[in-house]
Amino acid sequence: AVILGIESSCDETSASICIDGEIKSNIIAGQAIHANYGGVVPELASRAHQQNIIPTVDQAIQQAKINKNDIDAVAFTRGPGLLGSLLVGTSFAKSFALAQNIPLIEVNHMQAHILAHFIEDPKPAFPFLCLTVSGGHTQIVLVKDYFDMELLGQTLDDAAGEAFDKTAKILNLPYPGGPLIDKYAKEGNPLAFALPEPQIADLNFSFSGLKTAILYMVQAQEKENPNFLAENMADVCASVQQRIVTILLNKLKKAAKQTGVKDIAIAGGVSANSGLRSGLVAMGEKYKWNVFIPKFEYCTDNAAMIAIAGYQKFLKSDFVGQDISPLARMHV
Ligand code: ATP
Ligand code: MG
Ligand code: FE
Repeated sequence: AVILGIESSCDETSASICIDGEIKSNIIAGQAIHANYGGVVPELASRAHQQNIIPTVDQAIQQAKINKNDIDAVAFTRGPGLLGSLLVGTSFAKSFALAQNIPLIEVNHMQAHILAHFIEDPKPAFPFLCLTVSGGHTQIVLVKDYFDMELLGQTLDDAAGEAFDKTAKILNLPYPGGPLIDKYAKEGNPLAFALPEPQIADLNFSFSGLKTAILYMVQAQEKENPNFLAENMADVCASVQQRIVTILLNKLKKAAKQTGVKDIAIAGGVSANSGLRSGLVAMGEKYKWNVFIPKFEYCTDNAAMIAIAGYQKFLKSDFVGQDISPLARMHV
């Protein structure tokens, strides 16, 4: 079966072709415009999706060396995300399905981040644990089956990606700051600045206190030395990254202990973080876990994960009608 996947939940317009479970193309059009505003501007995002969606789909079809009449079903991100952005992908998918007279498949974006692990080998076996860390979410999920997932813990305030991006803002780095903090951290000392670990008893997370602690630390240091940031960027970034990563991995360790599950995955944009990736590998060796880390192109938003999730639904004939509408909020 040939599946066209469409992703438009935030600020990436993406289209992918999946043939019998194999990804043949994964075109991602980013939106540089938001860097000027220090964050995603919803109105500008939906406008850019409208401009990008047709060329992106065309390119995905071309790169897969198929014809649009070869497509058997279209899968799209229904939510969660920005409503105006989701509407562009949803409307496109509905029109395409109607025009081609093919089935329509709705996909949950947070499930798709996890299902990205089924794009390539090695694939995790059910049940496995997934730490999903992205721009809008931080979750520990027990994945029992493709579409049977249990939320074990989540953030009570900011998401991990938000913690990276808001810290980057304090450090005067452009949006999205996560990748830049990662880059600077490679040259820094993670023990240079002590930052607090929030005391949350269960499997939930909190990152807003950390952001405040970083702000106060930088303000205090700048009183002594106005050049503090310029001179210490690498050490600050390394310390921040180390703290965020240990918060995430300590909870993951706790979840593994509680459930007895030893297949452990990470997913979402922050799973591109080099500190998290190497930290997970080290922890996996220590606790004898089977660790699953997505390829970089499948960490941040992409339509390949939508297409692969769509393929699994296609096998079950899990289709939706033309009355479907996007949802800004959706649970895994
Ligand atoms: P959600 O999936 O929750 O709806 P989203 O789709 O905006 O949110 P993703 O595209 O999955 O999120 O991830 C984007 C986030 O990942 C941003 O916060 C970005 O800073 C962060 N990120 C990307 N690469 C890295 C990295 N190397 N280190 C840290 N953070 C990173
Ligand atoms: Mg994005
Ligand atoms: Fe995402």
